[in-house]
Amino acid sequence: MKWPHALAVCLVALIPLQAAETDSMNALAERYVKLVLALGQHDADYVDAYYGPAEWQTEAAASKRTLADIDRDAAAVQSALAGAAPARSSEEMIRLRHEYLTKQLLALRARLSMLQGKRYTFDDESKALYDAVAPTHSEVEFETISKDLESRLPGDGTLSDRLERFRSRFIIPKDRLDATFTAAIQGCRSRTLAHISLPPEESFVVEYVTNKSWAGYNWYKGKYHSVIQVNTDLPIYVDRAIDLACHEGYPGHHVYNALLEKIMMRDRGWVEFSVYPLRSPQSLIAEGSANYGIEIAFPRPERLAFERQAIFPAAGLDPAGVDDYYSVLALVDRLSYAGNEAARRYMNGTITATQAAEWLERFGLYSPARAQQRVRFIDQYGSYVINYNLGKDMVAKYVDSEAGADPARRWEVFTQLLSSPRLPSGLAR
Ligand SMILES: [Zn+2]
Repeated sequence: MKWPHALAVCLVALIPLQAAETDSMNALAERYVKLVLALGQHDADYVDAYYGPAEWQTEAAASKRTLADIDRDAAAVQSALAGAAPARSSEEMIRLRHEYLTKQLLALRARLSMLQGKRYTFDDESKALYDAVAPTHSEVEFETISKDLESRLPGDGTLSDRLERFRSRFIIPKDRLDATFTAAIQGCRSRTLAHISLPPEESFVVEYVTNKSWAGYNWYKGKYHSVIQVNTDLPIYVDRAIDLACHEGYPGHHVYNALLEKIMMRDRGWVEFSVYPLRSPQSLIAEGSANYGIEIAFPRPERLAFERQAIFPAAGLDPAGVDDYYSVLALVDRLSYAGNEAARRYMNGTITATQAAEWLERFGLYSPARAQQRVRFIDQYGSYVINYNLGKDMVAKYVDSEAGADPARRWEVFTQLLSSPRLPSGLAR
C-alpha cells in the first residue's frame, strides 16, 4: 500500500503552500485597506465604516498620498492579485475572497479616476462602481402603472398632489416619532434574532437629525455598535418606521456589518472587512439586502398585522386605515425604477436638475419637496440609487433561487449572503 505514504507527502507539501497563499492574500488585503483609507482623504463620503488598526487611519491622514500615487499602488495590488488567483477547486469562501478584492479594487480605481475628472455615463458608472447595470424603463410604463392609482385616488389636482394628500393622513406626529421607531426596532430585532445569532454585545443608538439628502443612515462604529440616524427634514410617513428600522438596523445594515466584523474579520482574520468603501460593489449587497430584509423580517400578512397592533397605535393613527394605506403603497412601489430613470437622464446630461425634479414628480409621483431631496441625493451619490431597488431585486432573486419558498431556508440563505464576500455579479449563478 503505497498511497497513504504518497498522500502524507502531498499533505505535508500542501499545508505550507496554503499557509503561504493565505499570508499573501492577507498582505494584499492589508494594502487594499490602506488604499481605501488613502482614497478616503480625497472623498469625504468614501470610507463609510472603519474599525481596523487606528494607526492605519492616522497614517493615511498624515501622509495624504496623491491620487496618482494611490492609483499606481492599486494597479500593483491588482496585478499581484491576478497572479494569486486560487485554484478552481479551492473552498468557495477563498474564491469569493479573491473575487471580492479584485472587484473592490476595480471600483476603487474607477472612483479615483472620477476624482481626477473622468466623467462616466450613468450605466458605465454603476457598472464600474457597483458591478451592475439597472434596466431601462420608458415613460409609458410608468404612466401605465400610474393609471391603476388614478381610480384609487380620485379628486382634484395632479395624481402626485392627490397621493401627497392621501399620505398626509399617515404622518407620524413628531412627538410620537421615537415611540414609533422604538416599537418598529423591537419588532425587527426580535424577528431577526429568532433566525440570526449576533454577538451578545451588539448594540445601537438612534439619533434624529436634519439637513441631509437621505432619509436614514447607519453609521457602523465597530465592536458590533451602530449609530442609526433618522432625518426629520420632511414629515415621516408611518410605513417608514418598519422600513427604516429593518433597513438600517435588523436585519439590514447593522446586522450585515456586525456579521462581517464577527465572521470575516475577527473569526477568519480577513482585514479587508474592517473597512467599508461606500462607492463599491459591496454597497449593492448592503442596500439590496437591507431592503430585502424588510420583506424577510415582515412578510406582507405579518407586516399588516404588526402595523395594526403596534405601529399605528404607537403613532396615534387609526389602525383601520392599514389595509387601504398599504394597498396604495404597493402600487406606488411599482414606480420605484422611475428614480433610476431620472438619475440616468440627469447624469447623462439630457435633462437639468429642475427637469429631473419635474420628472420625478410626474413619473415617480414624488411630492415637490421629496423630488428636490432626491435630486440632492443624486448630486451627492450619483448612480448609487440603483443599489436600493435593483439591489433588492437581485438579492430577492438570489434568495428565491437558492432557497425556494421555505421561510427558514430563506433566512439561512439570506444570513449566508450577509456573512460572505459575495458581490453583485456573483448573485446570478
Ligand atoms: Zn442603506
